[in-house]
Amino acid sequence: MTAERIDGKAFAARLTARVKAASDRLQAEHGVKPGLAVVIVGEDPASQIYVRNKGEQTQAAGMRSDTHRLADDTTQDQLLALIAQLNADPGIHGILVQLPLPDHIDSAAVLGAIDPDKDVDGFHVVNAGRLAVGLPGLVPCTPLGCSLMLKDALGDLSGLNAVVIGRSNIVGKPMAQLLLAESCTVTIAHSRTRDLPALARTADILVAAVGRPEFVRGDWIKPGATVIDVGINRVPSLDPAKAAEGKTRVVGDVAYAEAAEVAGRITPVPGGVGPMTIACLLMNTWTAACRSAGVEPVLGE
Ligand code: NAD
Repeated sequence: MTAERIDGKAFAARLTARVKAASDRLQAEHGVKPGLAVVIVGEDPASQIYVRNKGEQTQAAGMRSDTHRLADDTTQDQLLALIAQLNADPGIHGILVQLPLPDHIDSAAVLGAIDPDKDVDGFHVVNAGRLAVGLPGLVPCTPLGCSLMLKDALGDLSGLNAVVIGRSNIVGKPMAQLLLAESCTVTIAHSRTRDLPALARTADILVAAVGRPEFVRGDWIKPGATVIDVGINRVPSLDPAKAAEGKTRVVGDVAYAEAAEVAGRITPVPGGVGPMTIACLLMNTWTAACRSAGVEPVLGE
């Protein structure tokens, strides 16, 4: 079997276009332009690139984009004061604090200070709680993107066996909650799980969010299963000369070539889950803006 490749890039482009159209309607009909504030502390080069991309894509979706670049030595109180200001700003519907923060800042305290209704990353404990009990809230972008791709690929997920490898608060746990909400039978695997390959082989849906390059092998996969690879891992280039120069390539948590021989559907890395994450950030910002205006967030086709 050769798996169908789930094209996250194309799916994300379609989702972003729908969010833009819905956002334009919100502005035309209710006078509300969704606004996203991104806060970055320090000079981490990877974070700078992520933040620049988010700003560009937010603007391309017709939304207001504010980026707050703070120096490395910004104090926690200064950062909390900015969060308070953004919480109170009616033109800002989403606040995202780029992680990691410098060591002298307590990340949990900062994330906990964001108004849960503006918490477009979905990391606030109030949003984690809403997700757990099935109340409307804001859902972490990466697992939300995975869930949308799964529903698009498979339709009704009810009754399917899902195994999520990884139990982080930002991917594994909310992913499991979303699959449970779709009536899957969900198992969360982690570093202490016994006989992970045997468990993985029970999965109709296998989500890998481990952070280990090509960790999930082809013979871990049930024939015909749908495999979602969340991992983003930098490894040396395949070309020894380039590798010697320090050139890298990106691979997922799944050994793609092997897995694609067995799976029914699989997301590639890059071009799978990654592009969906930012599309879902825009969707969450639009959702938050709708709710602030008392409008039901219903995305058109
Ligand atoms: P994390 O380090 O917080 O969590 C990793 C999880 O993997 C842990 O729960 C751990 O128990 C589990 N694990 C580690 N070793 C294991 C083993 N040997 N067997 C079974 N389980 C094991 O990572 P995270 O933040 O959840 O991210 C996971 C991966 O997803 C990383 O590669 C990260 O870069 C990627 N990621 C991608 C996106 C995206 O936009 N595509 C977003 C967030 C994270």
